[in-house]
Amino acid sequence: MLGEMQDWPLLTWRLIDHAAQAHGDREIVTATVEGAIHRYTWSDARLRSKQLAAALVALGVEVGDRVGTLAWNTHRHLESWYGIAGMGGVAHTVNPRLFADQIVYIINHAEDRVLLFDISFAKLVAEIAPRLTTVRHFVAMTEPAHMPADAGISNLLCYESLLAAQGTDFQWVMQDERAPAGLCYTSGTTGNPKGVLYSHRANVLHTFGACMADALGLASTSAVLPVVPMYHANAWGIPYAAAAVGAKLVMGGPHFDPGTLHKLIIDEGVTFTAAVPTVWLGMLQFLEKTGQDMGALKTVVIGGSAAPRMMIEAFQNKYGVRVAHAWGMTEMSPLGSVGTPSAHSLQLPAEKQLDLQCKQGRGLFGIDMKITDDAGNSLPRDGESAGHLKVRGPWIVGRYFKGDGGDILDAEGYFDTGDVATIDQWGYIQITDRAKDVIKSGGEWISSIELENAAVAHPEVAEAAVIGVHHPKWDERPLLIVVRKPGASVDKDDILSFLAPRVAKWWLPDDVVFVEGLPHTATGKISKLELRHQFRDYKLPTAA
Ligand code: AMP
Repeated sequence: MLGEMQDWPLLTWRLIDHAAQAHGDREIVTATVEGAIHRYTWSDARLRSKQLAAALVALGVEVGDRVGTLAWNTHRHLESWYGIAGMGGVAHTVNPRLFADQIVYIINHAEDRVLLFDISFAKLVAEIAPRLTTVRHFVAMTEPAHMPADAGISNLLCYESLLAAQGTDFQWVMQDERAPAGLCYTSGTTGNPKGVLYSHRANVLHTFGACMADALGLASTSAVLPVVPMYHANAWGIPYAAAAVGAKLVMGGPHFDPGTLHKLIIDEGVTFTAAVPTVWLGMLQFLEKTGQDMGALKTVVIGGSAAPRMMIEAFQNKYGVRVAHAWGMTEMSPLGSVGTPSAHSLQLPAEKQLDLQCKQGRGLFGIDMKITDDAGNSLPRDGESAGHLKVRGPWIVGRYFKGDGGDILDAEGYFDTGDVATIDQWGYIQITDRAKDVIKSGGEWISSIELENAAVAHPEVAEAAVIGVHHPKWDERPLLIVVRKPGASVDKDDILSFLAPRVAKWWLPDDVVFVEGLPHTATGKISKLELRHQFRDYKLPTAA
């Protein structure tokens, strides 16, 4: 016997239909690539998504075809998500900050039929176009007046002209909810990047999960600025979640500098924003320098890398902005856990509440989590035992696109996130490291994340990274690499005495080196891979 309720396939176009029907006049504001501020509503966005869907069909895109985007967070990029998936295609966000060779690999591997790109990337596209073997049409996401002249791309099409040639009555394609809607490649620190092919069902269920009060907690009264790019793990699901609740959506376009973001936050009354710690580091320095506040901002979601304690403290104590520390990954659509107060945590003194906020929050409903030892045995949830963090659920990857990497689930259907974590009795997870970044010293593990967070709490440290360096006796020992704040003169001894009361004695770095800047990945995280390469010949003073 089955239940007798309606079968209503969970398709992503339902989100924008709902936004247009129930919150049609709610605004979407974009700081455009061309320069001006663009404003329209969810109703407008839906109609233009339909025009784009019709235009893609006219270009010969078929159900199941991939359409690539090389674009910032803009209203057009938003339309492309809904328009492509709404005509049965797969919206493939490509990270423009990757190396050209990686972009070529990804687009060819995905077999993108059409490539939509912001004019900021015209030169890049012209350079790689001859190597893109499957792309039949290149579309510049702009109006005729801003088409890149002499771009050197043959048969270049104009986005606005394509839309203008279509009506707004396109019928969204009714598909199986398990049909693909989106595609995003992992950053692939080793080997080639691998694709995660999101289904409509996964995206819609993730949206329900993301909107919960103890997750992103969005509402129709929210004004949301996803600084996290749409090419970084679906902008953490925000462009879908904002439609589901009818929030105002504010898009920063090509801008990531604190000045422009701050102006948008103030001018547009932004209440909710999300980005990686690097962005917030810059913002806090900007606020300190200019003496400004954060306007109506209530919540900042920090994820992608660990949020240092001093960052959480500064947002909450100086600027009255609540920090929700979140963890997830491309393979998880991406949300896994979010840090919101629990009934238990509210009973604790402020310092202890802050300790909990430094953890990565509790798992959302929809995610099964376990931590295991190297042999796959489950470890206790005691907040002490650190193990491989594995996840299972309806918005978690089942296999990579085209089966790359083979079978990726264990016997119980769990996916190994590659992260090492503890889980405490209240369900809070703490990411101690990427499994490959963990420092193995004399058979014990040292958390590079904890050391980095302790180091950036020093008032003269701008950024810090810790890597394991070979040691003849201990196998590996930590090396701390520090970027000083401008004008600061802090030295190795200062840093080590600052760390001494904050970390276990045997965790203290064997050396501290100072550099002008740290390498970052295409999603704005510190690149440990590049650092290990830079320091490959480095000899610790303790290794002699
Ligand atoms: P990506 O798929 O590029 O977003 O990378 C996902 C990885 O980023 C995770 O597997 C973690 O290693 C890391 N990550 C994400 N959020 C956090 C966080 N809040 N704290 C520490 N690491 C994080």
